Amino acid sequence: MKNDCIFCAIGAGEIPCFKVYEDELVLSYLDINPFSEGHTLVIPKVHSEGLLDTDDATLAAVLARVKKIAAHLKTALPCDGFNILQNNGEAAGQTVKHLHFHIVPRYGSEPIVFENKKGDMDKLKALAERVRL
Ligand code: 5GP
Ligand code: ZN
Repeated sequence: MKNDCIFCAIGAGEIPCFKVYEDELVLSYLDINPFSEGHTLVIPKVHSEGLLDTDDATLAAVLARVKKIAAHLKTALPCDGFNILQNNGEAAGQTVKHLHFHIVPRYGSEPIVFENKKGDMDKLKALAERVRL
């Protein structure tokens, strides 16, 4: 666990989150300022900053979880598709320096916008209860 890493603290249960899925390797939870309804993050519990400093075995295992959670969200939500996003470096829009994959559900012909909208805590809580795996 890295000091001052907010996702390490969430992974360790020190900061609350709206949990979607957890196992020994990963924690998955709703993004607090979602791009779309059901925008979900998947993080490894062990700290790495991004794609390049994560060992291949961990990366493969995390991605398998991303697939499992995305498949579940696609059945739990009335979405028509989803984006997987993973930012590396500030220039790429990475704001939290702990590896994370975004699963962004997409609905009908809504425009594809990668822009955080302020989350409503009550709605996020209810949604997490609805989609928890
Ligand atoms: P990045 O831009 O680094 O790829 O994405 C970081 C994401 O983490 C953003 O979409 C942001 O809304 C989300 N985020 C930042 N802090 C927190 C937090 O404390 N809890 C949750 N659930 N999401 C967070
Ligand atoms: Zn971390």
